[in-house]
Amino acid sequence: MRTLKIAKHDGRGEIFLSVQGEGRHQGTPSVFVRTSLCNLHCVWCDTDYTWNWAGTPYPHEKDGEPGYAKFEKSEEIIEMTPAEIVAAVRTFDCRHIVLTGGEPLLQQAGLIDVISLLRDADTDAGYHIEVETNGTLAPNPAFDASVDQYNVSPKLSNAYMEASLRIKADVSKFFASSEKAWFKFVVDREEDISEVLAMVRTFEIKSSRVYLMPQGRSADALTARQAWVEAQCAAHGFKFSDRLHVHEFGDRRGV
Ligand code: SF4
Repeated sequence: MRTLKIAKHDGRGEIFLSVQGEGRHQGTPSVFVRTSLCNLHCVWCDTDYTWNWAGTPYPHEKDGEPGYAKFEKSEEIIEMTPAEIVAAVRTFDCRHIVLTGGEPLLQQAGLIDVISLLRDADTDAGYHIEVETNGTLAPNPAFDASVDQYNVSPKLSNAYMEASLRIKADVSKFFASSEKAWFKFVVDREEDISEVLAMVRTFEIKSSRVYLMPQGRSADALTARQAWVEAQCAAHGFKFSDRLHVHEFGDRRGV
């Protein structure tokens, strides 16, 4: 049977109950399934254990911090079948599921099996399936049909990657026209707002579906930028998104 590469934490797959800390369903109790692997390499990524492998050349803002080193790929991934993932999800009494990463759309074939098994096992109100994606990979029709919501987070130049890698016009247009998609931009400086506005214009993204979120891996960093981000939202018809889990747990994994 097909297996999926799931981020490994404490010897198990990183599948855990927490609260959705960002975006449209901020505050909603949710089960998170963290897939490993990503096709991007954002310099401020807070799940760098899904892609920042030993031997790769990508920089990270933690480079140089005491104790920080690139990750051994074989130690950070656990292979799980869809049935094993569903069994882990069902240990929690919660039907709001967030498929996150890494970049989950790299493994959409396996995730279709996970969603379909979850729904087969469902006996009451049903699961809500939310997918967090960087917006560079298009969902195939079967995956698209099985998902309830996309949280699309296109990367700006503040992620320190070339535009051709982080922006795929056809994929951005697909999500901009999807009723299931909500956009979330991590912003840090004035130039970021110009980039967001350019993307919104170019791909005809509805402003009412755009969240701006401060960049930061600590509560202090988020709080320091909050008033500025809220003012930008008010000026451009966007919504503000906090990062509740960072306020509560900081940079900790699996919570
Ligand atoms: S797209 Fe997401 S998971 Fe991938 S490197 Fe960027 S922030 Fe990390």
